[in-house]
Amino acid sequence: MSDALRRVQEFIREGVPRLVVTLDAGGLVLAARDPEWAKLLESADLITPDSSGIVWALRRSGLAIGGRVAGCDMAGELCRLSQQHGYRVYLLGGAPGVAEKAACALTATYPGCSIVGFDHGYFQEAEEPEVLSRIANAKPDILLVAMGMPRQEKWIARHRERLGVPVSIGVGGTLDVFAGVAKRAPRAFQRLGLEWLWRVARNPRKMRKVLSLPTFVLMVLRNQSVV
Ligand code: UDP
Repeated sequence: MSDALRRVQEFIREGVPRLVVTLDAGGLVLAARDPEWAKLLESADLITPDSSGIVWALRRSGLAIGGRVAGCDMAGELCRLSQQHGYRVYLLGGAPGVAEKAACALTATYPGCSIVGFDHGYFQEAEEPEVLSRIANAKPDILLVAMGMPRQEKWIARHRERLGVPVSIGVGGTLDVFAGVAKRAPRAFQRLGLEWLWRVARNPRKMRKVLSLPTFVLMVLRNQSVV
């Protein structure tokens, strides 16, 4: 996490638009059948291991990786850094009302952190120019996009030059968690690397991700990963 935060701070200093991906096993498997997504992963400026599966795969290939850097944890840490350094943060995604609630919760947890705007993630195509203008005018340093993987990363890639935000990060269901709409797995599940099991039990639509796990394990064992 400290390495990832250091890189993000460097990106903010440099000011060039960058994409940060918080990757889980399902995302990696998806890259094998979604060429646009695979290309995006290759061109991402920073990829963090969002799931214990990715940590396992990296350690297996000999990388001395510290541990998970989940999007949800990184978003919290970035708000802490915003408190200290005044980084401007914009929240985009979730159902109407979620980003606003998340902004309130984050400001309560990290008083003084600078949330400079928020928008829900269900805007129509015709509304998109307005959303883009709002973000660009707010001049954030960090844009947290919570629209699910890989939709959020593809959206960032399409618009990052126009937005000019130094750091854009796809953070999945993170705003739901901060808004209190979704619950994070208990610490015990997180420590055992079973956060995914908790999420599936609460949301059976996540089953698709679980079904990709055997493919992921085979990919790693056969060393066929795309990273
Ligand atoms: N979402 C959105 N716009 C869409 C589709 C989804 O803002 O068009 C939001 C959805 O409300 C949820 C998040 O994207 O808050 C996806 O969360 P999920 O946990 O499914 O993402 P994952 O972590 O699996 O990528």
